[in-house]
Amino acid sequence: MTPDSDPECIFCKIVGGQIPAAVIYKNDQVTAFRDINPQMPLHVLVVPNKHVANTEVLEPQHDALVGAVVRAARDIARQEGVAERGYRLVINTGRDALNTVPHLHMHMLAGRAMSWPPG
Ligand code: 5GP
Ligand code: ZN
Repeated sequence: MTPDSDPECIFCKIVGGQIPAAVIYKNDQVTAFRDINPQMPLHVLVVPNKHVANTEVLEPQHDALVGAVVRAARDIARQEGVAERGYRLVINTGRDALNTVPHLHMHMLAGRAMSWPPG
């Protein structure tokens, strides 16, 4: 069994309220807060409340949690008024993807027309 929280993890500290963040959504499984360095007019990080390092460690037991993260992102898009125009959901894993924080998080990006593919 892995513990629900990692005392060294910055996103665990945000979930637990030990360090401040602009939290815009919270339920029993998921917390979402504004990215400190936004790359889009709307840039929100949606994280599981339980510490999960990244997609590489996911097991079937995490399926409901991952589903809750995606549905929370969808609800936030509606809450923030971008659902109709659209939004992008991104999970970075590993060095090539420039993953920096080792607590699973989904970027919710919206507020302007985007290009594809990403850089
Ligand atoms: P990654 O590159 O790991 O996919 O994304 C990590 C994201 O976390 C970055 O966009 C970065 O700006 C954001 N971030 C890092 N530290 C903090 C913090 O203390 N508070 C908030 N709100 N965002 C953070
Ligand atoms: Zn964590």
